[in-house]
Amino acid sequence: KVKIGVLAMQGAFVDHEKALQMLDCETMQIRTVEQLNQVQGLIIPGGESTTIGKLMDQFGLIDAIQERSSQGMPIWGTCAGMILLAKEIEASDQLRLGLMDIKVRRNAFGRQVDSFEVPLDMKEIGDEPFPAVFIRAPYISEKNDQVKVLATHEEKTVAVRQGHLLAAAFHPELTDDSRMHQYFLDMVQRSL
Ligand code: GLN
Repeated sequence: KVKIGVLAMQGAFVDHEKALQMLDCETMQIRTVEQLNQVQGLIIPGGESTTIGKLMDQFGLIDAIQERSSQGMPIWGTCAGMILLAKEIEASDQLRLGLMDIKVRRNAFGRQVDSFEVPLDMKEIGDEPFPAVFIRAPYISEKNDQVKVLATHEEKTVAVRQGHLLAAAFHPELTDDSRMHQYFLDMVQRSL
């Protein structure tokens, strides 16, 4: 059985575990390099990206995750997790993994729309729109041609894939539609 780690520094990691447990998959909260080395895939949850980045650094997880990524381990970042996967973060020098060829803008949808839910077209996971919950969400302002766009909202790129790396600006763990978790689980299973 596949075991997927959920980075448990801060933020929405418990909901990701619950979503994965609905599928045929074991989960593990990741706080140490030893724990990281026991999983075949990793989710980096939403939360506060500067806080998560600092804690990852303190626990030696930035180097360790970069290393696992270079060996092809699938990683999925949601919201703050997407920010941490980006090579470039607009107007910020905060700590990050810098694994994906994307530039992100934090809190990008403006104060009036701090949080909202929209049906999102994402053909890669099926014909039915995906209920996407955005909370102080970032979006992707630039990318290179290695990066495939999976979904857009108001012409902003909000979900992408680059090989073994997946990123979403929203919170799929907060709705009971499990298709994105299933999609990531398939990525992990195919990587073994
Ligand atoms: N705005 C947060 C950040 O920049 C991300 C918000 C979220 O993960 N829901 O870290």
